[in-house]
Amino acid sequence: MDTVSVHDKTVAELAAGLAAGTYSSEELTRDCLQRINGIGSELNAFVTVAEEHALTAAREADRRRARGEAGLLSGIPLAHKDIFCTNGIRTSCGSRMLDNFISPYDAHVVERMQTAGMVMLGKTNMDEFAMGSSNENSFYGPVKNPWDTTAVPGGSSGGSAAAVAARLVPAATGTDTGGSIRQPAAMCGITGLKPTYGRVSRYGMIAFASSLDQAGPMARSAEDCALLLEAMAGFDSRDSTCVNQPVPRYSETLDADLKGLKIGLPKEYFGEGLDAEVARVVDAAIEEYRKLGVEFREISLRNTHLAVPAYYVIAPAECSSNLSRFDGVRFGHRCENPRDLEDLYKRSRGEGFGAEVKRRILVGTYALSAGYYDAYYLKAQKVRRLIRDDFLAAFGEVDAILGPTSPTVAFNLGERSDDPVKMYLSDIYTIAVNLAGLPGMSVPAGFAHGRPVGLQLIGNHFDEARLLNMAHRYQQVTDWHTRAPEAFA
Ligand code: GLN
Repeated sequence: MDTVSVHDKTVAELAAGLAAGTYSSEELTRDCLQRINGIGSELNAFVTVAEEHALTAAREADRRRARGEAGLLSGIPLAHKDIFCTNGIRTSCGSRMLDNFISPYDAHVVERMQTAGMVMLGKTNMDEFAMGSSNENSFYGPVKNPWDTTAVPGGSSGGSAAAVAARLVPAATGTDTGGSIRQPAAMCGITGLKPTYGRVSRYGMIAFASSLDQAGPMARSAEDCALLLEAMAGFDSRDSTCVNQPVPRYSETLDADLKGLKIGLPKEYFGEGLDAEVARVVDAAIEEYRKLGVEFREISLRNTHLAVPAYYVIAPAECSSNLSRFDGVRFGHRCENPRDLEDLYKRSRGEGFGAEVKRRILVGTYALSAGYYDAYYLKAQKVRRLIRDDFLAAFGEVDAILGPTSPTVAFNLGERSDDPVKMYLSDIYTIAVNLAGLPGMSVPAGFAHGRPVGLQLIGNHFDEARLLNMAHRYQQVTDWHTRAPEAFA
């Protein structure tokens, strides 16, 4: 069969092409697989390419279409971040610990996308257990940024972001605990959405920090993210924090008029630390929104400076508890010839986890220990509440909040690896959103220093429809989201 070249198409365009019979799902799938294994292989964006699984699913989608049973997303390829459990296909979570782990069940998100008829091509590379901002913490090596292969793609969903940006796949899933969908989306020039905490089930998504983790779509356009979120979101009784609230038809409100919408610009997001060129790009985006009739006002999120410190107590605390399940007994890596149980635990965990994961487990265990619980963990939880209250007060005045996604563009590979604090500050504008449980989006808005810049949109709880609407209207009057890195165009 001849391969068709469809890599320049969005999910919405592919849905139309499939419906019109212009190409089959098998053709699409072959085109993607060819790019993943060919031009895309230098990016190291995939941990596992599930070729056979994908072709079988594609043929099945084609058969269903022939029977008149196809849904909108039927037959469209996508990749899953390797944090989502996939039945029968390895789920590594970017860690040596799970290098040999084959899940006996699918994550809720995987199930949902499969039910929608989407074709899973494989599992994307990520920072180990989603801890990182550059994808340099993966057991499988760093992912490269398709815009400049000497740069990081951002993290922890760096494989998903790079794969979408390089047109290896039209869409991918990601997870965001402190910025891991939005920050790599920004650094790779794609569109990514972190939904409200509880909007998407965490069942089968390997836990990092359970009160912050949330899954969401990464794609080229807001329209695509809307279509993907419609399939992904919804109640699941297997996640006790998943909210039972109807899922709006996000794709039907994308064109709503923005006239009179009030958007807040937090002064803390435009101060010290923000790269001047990035600021210039964000200012230009604000001008575009003004032309669309949006009104801006300055707001203050005055506890912003406490977000990173609070997060780096709460997230490690939860991770130290979540990761205690990897003990060399039940799943994952087991050391050779353990002398006794204690030796089994120590060496299995010592060998299985990488340096950043160990650092977090140590910090988290310390913060939760009897003498320090009140001073660190409880204090951080109180700060978390203050941060949430700041946002809720702001939403009394404005409909949404806008700012940069990240203070800088993608940095060079190796540039921040020796300085954890500098690395942690990459998420200074994204982390507070997770602490408050709010939805946030990153939208391509231009370039600085030759690398993509993301614009962040933050909404009130369950206001994803408004964010998608705002992003879509912006994408109708700008073409940043259509730009492809030259080497992968
Ligand atoms: N970069 C942050 C961290 O290392 C956030 C990661 C994430 O969102 N998964 O924890």
